[in-house]
Amino acid sequence: MNEQVTNPKTREWQAMSREHHLAPFSDFKQLSENGPRIITKAEGVYLWDSEGKKILDAMAGLWCVAVGYGRKELADAAYRQMQELPYYNMFFQTATPPALELAKEISKLTPEGMNHVFFTGSGSEGNDTMLRMVRHYWALKGKPNKKVIISRINGYHGSTVAGASLGGMTYMHEQGDLPIPGIVHIPQPYWFGEGGDMSPDEFGIWAADQLEKKILEVGEENVAAFIAEPIQGAGGVIIPPETYWPRIREILAKYDILFIADEVICGFGRTGEWFGSDYFGNTPHMMTIAKGLTSGYIPMGGLVVRDDVVKVLNEGGDFNHGFTYSGHPVAAAVGLANLRILQEEKIVERVKAETAPYLQKRLRELSDHPLVGEVRGVGMLGAIELVQDKATRKRYPSDKAVGMICRGHCFNNGLIMRAVGDTMIISPPLVISHAEIDELVEKARKCLDLTAEEVLK
Ligand SMILES: *Cc1c(COP(=O)(O)O)cnc(C)c1O
Repeated sequence: MNEQVTNPKTREWQAMSREHHLAPFSDFKQLSENGPRIITKAEGVYLWDSEGKKILDAMAGLWCVAVGYGRKELADAAYRQMQELPYYNMFFQTATPPALELAKEISKLTPEGMNHVFFTGSGSEGNDTMLRMVRHYWALKGKPNKKVIISRINGYHGSTVAGASLGGMTYMHEQGDLPIPGIVHIPQPYWFGEGGDMSPDEFGIWAADQLEKKILEVGEENVAAFIAEPIQGAGGVIIPPETYWPRIREILAKYDILFIADEVICGFGRTGEWFGSDYFGNTPHMMTIAKGLTSGYIPMGGLVVRDDVVKVLNEGGDFNHGFTYSGHPVAAAVGLANLRILQEEKIVERVKAETAPYLQKRLRELSDHPLVGEVRGVGMLGAIELVQDKATRKRYPSDKAVGMICRGHCFNNGLIMRAVGDTMIISPPLVISHAEIDELVEKARKCLDLTAEEVLK
């Protein structure tokens, strides 16, 4: 934080951070030198920091605050549930009403034939659950060798050992000797960054064909599943070329492997459909969920499982896996209240019909900016590619850290936009209004101008 600090409490909190806290995905030394920005309250799509500064949160926290900040209904649901039954587990042939009701409510929204939910505390745990359930499934089918999970380079599937292994972030693999055995990666469908001289459609086919190539290389008899985000989020809001998913579906139809959609970001309306799988017409066997499920008001994740898979698991005796907080009643009550708001206020329908088309149209106006090589987006997801040369998609040298410069200007000008390398990304709350979209785009343009001034000087 390079602005002046005037509130003495800010200094106190920053000292606590330095002296006592280890922050996720952070350079500890750098953070202790600069001190974190302290976020103290929020309402709608806005945050306030401890210096009283108002910030438009175009990332919905970490992709999760679907219904926006400050929804009292969610706080009330948690308060009521804590008084009634704050906790009980589901390990010993017991269950609690909110978890069961939430499982039913989720099933109504998921693609046809996906009617069971295994609850976890997070998206990462959802993917850990997936890995174990998939291998258990194949063992029950008499094919215990089918263990390998195919994933994608630069995919994000969480930060537990399984999550980070499934993910394709090399900087995560480098720390902790990952991936664990039995997980292999194929190239991502990132045309702007890696498409070379191919057209987007040609590149989409090429990227999808890497799945078939890998299945044949590993041997179908050893492959358990393919996991992918419908749209890669943390990787940089990467929307596959139009040819990609249809070709992947053709390949999946040829081989006896499970298809897992990681819907942690795309799920619960972010694309304007309930799930990214609906948006692309995919039919997964399992979907990992989290984030938008509770709008981030309380941690919760899960794994939605297709009926024919459940049928096999039902014959298999104990599944030796679960978490103390699987189906936590307070989290489930908040999830129920969140899904009620999304449905009663027709938020997903509104995203699809009104606000997403408007956001996408306004964002694309930034294409004429000298730093911008591409603007893309779907629903309430967007990416702005910063380049040195628009025609050839050539990047600035990485030591220029253009994305980080832009992110800094955004923070200082009251806008949270994240940088993935030199790709600026947004994922605002689903409830963002037309006027707030105008503000977002105007601030983004101003920060692009400030970045250009600094980079081009
Ligand atoms: C955030 C994310 C996860 C991990 O969820 P956590 O709740 O942070 O464990 C998994 N998959 C995707 C696609 C995500 O964006």
